[in-house]
Amino acid sequence: MTYPDVLEPIERATRAELDAHQEAALTAITRHAFENAPLVRQQWDAAGLAPSAIKSLADFVAKAPLIDKDDVRRFRDTHNDPSGGMSKLLPGETMSIGTTSGTTGDPTPVPSWIVAPSEIGYSRDIWHIGARPGDFLTHMLFTFRGGHRRRGNAQIGISEICYSIAPEEVARAVDGSLRFRPTVWSMCSTPVLLMLEGYFEKTGVDPIDVFSSYKGAIFGGEPLSGRLKALTDSWGFEMFETTSLGDVAGATECRMHDGFHAYEDIAFIEAIDPVTREPVADGEIGELVVTTLVDRMTPLIRYATGDLAIIDRRPCGCGRNHARFKVMGRASDQILVNGRSILPREIMGLVEVHSETRGALFQIVRTEREMATLRLRVGYDTARLSCTADALRLRLHDQITGALGVPLAVELIDEQELLKLGPPHKIPRVTKA
Ligand SMILES: [Zn+2]
Repeated sequence: MTYPDVLEPIERATRAELDAHQEAALTAITRHAFENAPLVRQQWDAAGLAPSAIKSLADFVAKAPLIDKDDVRRFRDTHNDPSGGMSKLLPGETMSIGTTSGTTGDPTPVPSWIVAPSEIGYSRDIWHIGARPGDFLTHMLFTFRGGHRRRGNAQIGISEICYSIAPEEVARAVDGSLRFRPTVWSMCSTPVLLMLEGYFEKTGVDPIDVFSSYKGAIFGGEPLSGRLKALTDSWGFEMFETTSLGDVAGATECRMHDGFHAYEDIAFIEAIDPVTREPVADGEIGELVVTTLVDRMTPLIRYATGDLAIIDRRPCGCGRNHARFKVMGRASDQILVNGRSILPREIMGLVEVHSETRGALFQIVRTEREMATLRLRVGYDTARLSCTADALRLRLHDQITGALGVPLAVELIDEQELLKLGPPHKIPRVTKA
């Protein structure tokens, strides 16, 4: 049996077809949002704007008001509305409620309809990686919108073997991999890879055998570090990074590994200058702004994500014309030390090269956007310490300050203590204290 190389025909659309599709879909979803999402109605009324005034993509970009996470939270708190003014929650329409992970604030409830938009995207990603009907998929449950419900996989004939993200589950997932020989693992994350690495070191089980049936893994939560990329390459286990597309869907790399694909029939994406809020051209860094084209439950319209990104709408080597984007970091994570811009992803590669801190568990302590000294809190594995803690601290200090060229203060902490500061198995990379 041979299957098509893409799951859905729209994945093969030309640029002109995508543009026409988006223009029509934007008009319709904007009208729906205005009628059903009280926050959108409030913002548009305040701007003196009606959906009928939007006649083209250019009109939309020039006129539609921006919404951000603070607007949603404020509406939620002032109106006691769990959806933050994004949905009327019609009885019988809400099929499930998940939550966001809450890394940068309190978790936000996310209602969804029969199939969540993120599931449409993940089904295509999993198909692209190579899973086909009859295959097994290792599913490690991840706190993400839509919760644990993944009807999308069942609909394309793929059976999930489910585990939670916990150290004791790693042995079961390895065992399940050897017994059922799944083709895709979703989701992988930094903590999952660290648990697997520790498991293989302790047991002597051969990772190349364990992962021999896998065509890839979806990796999310934060950027894949250089060390973990090399480690998974050595296992023959290909990582496909994924990120949230501003809460309207997910966006995952294709096998070209050259940016996250935003499916343009699911979302319209643009970038704006974070300060002036004016549009920036493709290829330039700006704050990512997303509009859902399909989500009737949470019709986010021009949602400013806080992510700094570069958009590329040129055709991709994978054969698809859907836009790609690279994420540079979160605008709110950026810190200026003596005028030099620093984002957490720069620190990751510097911390993980030391044996004791190979988990790259660190936080930037950011009390102001501009600071005279970079303050880092770094977690270390007490069992791997080969010198005094102070010697390790000095080693980290000299290497990081040498690489970044800014004054630095390093605080060391047992990584188990550091892990307690965040949601399970994930720590905020930037903290105020
Ligand atoms: Zn591609």
